[in-house]
Amino acid sequence: MKLDITRGIQNKGIEVAFEFQEDWAEDSWNGDVVRFCAPVTVTGTYMLTDETVVIRGIAETVIEGPCARCLESAHMPVHAKIAEAFVRDSGETILPLDEEQYRYQGHILDLYEAVRTALLLELPTRFLCKEDCKGLCPVCGTNLNYNTCSCQKDLPRRNPFSALAAMLNEDEEV
Ligand SMILES: [Zn+2]
Ligand SMILES: [Zn+2]
Repeated sequence: MKLDITRGIQNKGIEVAFEFQEDWAEDSWNGDVVRFCAPVTVTGTYMLTDETVVIRGIAETVIEGPCARCLESAHMPVHAKIAEAFVRDSGETILPLDEEQYRYQGHILDLYEAVRTALLLELPTRFLCKEDCKGLCPVCGTNLNYNTCSCQKDLPRRNPFSALAAMLNEDEEV
């Protein structure tokens, strides 16, 4: 996702439009493998002010990961705003630059890290295939979205947490 900013260097203070469409492969998020299952598109503008490049845009894709409850693949359309400033890295650092700051050299600016971070930050901490996913039976592992099993009706008695949950509910009512 390399942006050639030559036009912006020649026209400081003017917003220049750009767009990208790229296929990205796998990534990892919260310990899960996630996959970009649609091309990553970015549309936006960049503008040079002095030697800083201000990027504004919208990134979109669809990310696939395992559902936190049933482990089937869940698809999440993601729409992220990009608003970043890139500082020119001239190689001769006079002022100490912030380590977190995005840099660019010459007339090429790589948007990959900024776009990747913005997209992944839009993901929920837990992927769900659907809001009301019933998950797997904790006893036999049956996917309760598709099947039923006979463990479920015995569960409250076997589950050590149900007694605790009942106590907590009683407390709430007091
Ligand atoms: Zn699920
Ligand atoms: Zn079961």
